[in-house]
Amino acid sequence: MNLSTKLHETAQAMPEKDAYMFMGKSTSYGELDAAVTKFASGLEKLGIKKGDHVALLLGNSPYFVISLYGALRLGATVIPVNPIYSPDEIGYILNNGDVKAVISLDLLLPVAEKSHHLLPKIEQYIICDSNQPEAETIHKEELGIYPKLKAFTDVLASGRLDYEGSEPHENDTAVILYTSGTTGKPKGAMLTHKNLYSNAIDTANYLNINETDRIITVLPMFHVFCLTVALNAPLMKGATMLIAPKFSPQDLFDLARDYKATIFAGVPTMYNFLLQYANAGGNIEDFKSLRLAVSGGASMPVALLNHFEKKFNVRVSEGYGLSEASPVTCFNPLDRERKPGSIGMSIVNVENKVVDELGEEVPPGQVGELIVRGPNVMRGYYKMPEETAATIRDGWLYTGDLARMDDEGYFYIVDRKKDLVIVGGYNVYPREVEEVLYDHPEIIEAAVVGIPDPDFGEAVVAYAVSKNPNLTEEELLNYCSERLAKYKLPSKIEFLEELPKNTTGKILRRALRAQIEAAKQ
Ligand code: AMP
Repeated sequence: MNLSTKLHETAQAMPEKDAYMFMGKSTSYGELDAAVTKFASGLEKLGIKKGDHVALLLGNSPYFVISLYGALRLGATVIPVNPIYSPDEIGYILNNGDVKAVISLDLLLPVAEKSHHLLPKIEQYIICDSNQPEAETIHKEELGIYPKLKAFTDVLASGRLDYEGSEPHENDTAVILYTSGTTGKPKGAMLTHKNLYSNAIDTANYLNINETDRIITVLPMFHVFCLTVALNAPLMKGATMLIAPKFSPQDLFDLARDYKATIFAGVPTMYNFLLQYANAGGNIEDFKSLRLAVSGGASMPVALLNHFEKKFNVRVSEGYGLSEASPVTCFNPLDRERKPGSIGMSIVNVENKVVDELGEEVPPGQVGELIVRGPNVMRGYYKMPEETAATIRDGWLYTGDLARMDDEGYFYIVDRKKDLVIVGGYNVYPREVEEVLYDHPEIIEAAVVGIPDPDFGEAVVAYAVSKNPNLTEEELLNYCSERLAKYKLPSKIEFLEELPKNTTGKILRRALRAQIEAAKQ
C-alpha cells in the first residue's frame, strides 16, 4: 500500500466526501482523485517519468496536494522546497536534488529565474496561477525565458482520466526532504513510500484521526510535520482538511467557527499567538468543536500548554518527530494520561530508546541520546553515504536530541545535543532555563544560548520578550535565582521585541548566537 493508491481507494469508497476546503470552496475525494490522475498523466505527457525528481515551490493550496499526489501516482520523487528560501538556497536544493521539473507559484517565478543559471538539469517549469494581479505581468514577461514553461491548468487539462499510474516499490524514494541543517549544507532525507504511508497511518490511528474529523492545515505543507500529520494522515482516513494559506489568528478563529474544526496541529509559537489573540478578546466559542490540539516541531513550554488548555478547554497532546523519521516517533496518548513537558510514548510500530555514548540503553530517568527504529526511518541522505552511515547505525536512527524516559515509558526531550551549554563542567540544558522564564507572568517568549566564556568555558545568555516594558533584567534575574541552581543562571538577560524564527515557527537559537558573534566584531 502507498499514499496514492490509498487515496484512490478512499475516493472510491466515499467520492462525495469533502477532502478539503480552501478559500470557501470544497473539493470532494472523487474530484481530488480525478485531478491527481489527470495531473499524473499530464506530467507523463510532458516527458516526466517514473523515478524523475519533481520540486514543489508552493505555499499551502490545492496545487500542493494535487502536485504531490499526482507526481507520486506517476512514480516520480517529490522534493518540497520552502518557497521563501533565497535563490541561492533554492538553487542549491534543486541542483543537489537533481530536479528535472519544478512546479512553482507564478509569484515565485522571479526567484526560480534568479537561480536558473545554477540549474542546467531543469527541463520543465509548471506554473500555478496565484490569481494575484501582480503575477499577471511576471507570467507574460517570463514566458520567453523558459522555453519549457506550462500552466498548471493546461497540464491538468491534457491528462487522461483512465491513466493507471505506476505501482511503486515500497522502498522507492517517494519524497526527499531537505532538512534545515543546523550545520553545513542542507541534507536531503530520502523517505520511501513505505516510510510515509506507515507513518501517516500509524499517527492517524494513534490520534484516532477519522472521517468525522476536520483538521486545520496551517503548518507549512513543505514541512514534514504538516505533510504527515495535517495532510497525509487526514487524507488516508477520509477526514477533511481546512487548508489555510498562511498563519493569522483571526483567520484561524473564523475557519474553526465556520467549518467546525475538530483538530488543530501547530508548533508552540502558533499556540502562543492563538492564546494572545484569545486573551485580547478573541471568541473562544469559535473553537468549541475542537476535540484535540497537537503540538510538535519544538518543545512546548509547560506554562503555555497549561494556559492554552485552560483557555480553550481542549486537550493539548505534544508529540515529537524529525524529518528523517517521516517524522512522528512519539505522541502523548489519547487514552491515558498526557504529561505536560513530555513528548509522550512511542507510537505503534516505532521504537524509541535512550542510549549513552556507546549506544547502550540507559536506565529510566537518566539522560542520553534518543534513538529510533521503525518502518518510518528514512533510507538515508541523498548522495551522502557518509552522513547516512553516521546517522543510522545498526538500524537505529540517531536523532541528536537528548532525552530521558520515565518509569511509565513517557519520553522527555531535554535538549538538542548541540545546544547543550557546559558551564564550568556542569551541563545546563537551555530548555530548563527557558521553562522558568516562560513561567514568569510577564514573559511571552524566551530563548537561552551558550556563549564562550574565558573563566567557565561557556556562559548562559537569555533572550526574552516581555509584555511589560518596565520589567528589568535585575528583577527577572532575581526571579530566576529563586528557581535555578547558581551555575544555570543567565549571566545576562536581554529583552527583544521578538525572537528570530524559521518559517515553521521554530525559535532559532543559532541566529541568536550569530547575533552575539556579530556584535563582538
Ligand atoms: P525537523 O526535521 O525540521 O522536523 O526538526 C526535527 C527536530 O525538531 C528534532 O530533532 C528536535 O530537535 C525538534 N523537535 C521536534 N519536536 C520536538 C518536541 N516536541 N520537543 C522538542 N524538540 C522537538
